[in-house]
Amino acid sequence: MNKLIKKIEAAGLLGRGCGTFPTAKKWLAVLNAPGREKYVIVNCSESEPGIFKDEFILDNYPELVLDGLKLAMRTLNASQGFIYLNPIFNSRFRNKIQILIGHDNIEIFSEPSKSYIAGEESTIVNLMEGKREEPRFKPPFVLEKGFLNKPTLVNNCETFYDIALINQGKYKRERFFCIAGDNTPKNIFKFPETITVKQALLESGHYPNFKFFIQLGGAMAGICLAADQLDDYAIQYYGGLIIHELAKDERQLVNKWLEFYKKESCGQCVPCREGTYRLYEMYNAKDFNHQLFADIIFAMQNSSLCSMGKMAATAITSYFENIKKCKKR
Ligand code: SF4
Repeated sequence: MNKLIKKIEAAGLLGRGCGTFPTAKKWLAVLNAPGREKYVIVNCSESEPGIFKDEFILDNYPELVLDGLKLAMRTLNASQGFIYLNPIFNSRFRNKIQILIGHDNIEIFSEPSKSYIAGEESTIVNLMEGKREEPRFKPPFVLEKGFLNKPTLVNNCETFYDIALINQGKYKRERFFCIAGDNTPKNIFKFPETITVKQALLESGHYPNFKFFIQLGGAMAGICLAADQLDDYAIQYYGGLIIHELAKDERQLVNKWLEFYKKESCGQCVPCREGTYRLYEMYNAKDFNHQLFADIIFAMQNSSLCSMGKMAATAITSYFENIKKCKKR
């Protein structure tokens, strides 16, 4: 096995986007995929509200992200690399990154408009080819048939930052973790990935002094957890958390989640396109049919084409399951 891939495997690095797939396995799949032309893409879409770690990395450590990309290109014999930036990052960081690229065969690609689904890896490839903004049917995965139908590695911005550290022997199994929310200054920390959510709040000095719940993983896709559940979750798979006041108005909160997904659904598949619309309609109807609401969520979770439709109701179901009962105490 290639030396760097061995080091990545030994470090146990998991993707730092929402997929958390073992990085060494992904690299090996691209390395072993047939075909001489291969591509590497740094995903800097960062579309989950409340998560701003990639922005922090691009602002403070762009040279490490570039290092990671160049290492990947060399390791996988990739013909070209791309830095995929959302439009806000494109206007903020493009010039800085362009200087760091130097003479390598690396291009910056700007997302046409900021949207949630534009960070999904097959959607990225579609957009780079000038196609519709929607995920592809899988298989084949982009690892085998990605950009221009060639094997393509897409990793999150923080993953490439970690690769650079692994290569330098400085990686310590830590990750960036964002904390934001009600009565909470927006802040970012670097913690060992095994610490619990409760420890992260205590060590950061952000453990609330009011009744609260949190949303782990972001303000839209994040799972809602009550204060007494925070020892049960390590931060390893999550880029941050949002603190909510427990007394917050439920209707406003649920509608915010429902409206977001209704707007962001790309419309390609029925369960998500219709489901996000119907959930919003049903929740705001005079007679709320709990059973039908739950049935639609079940259908979305089990038959949506991509993870967005599958995850669209995570915040709502976890809120009903974990938080509502705390309000009654
Ligand atoms: S689940 Fe939603 S976002 Fe994903 S393909 Fe279907 S409609 Fe598009």
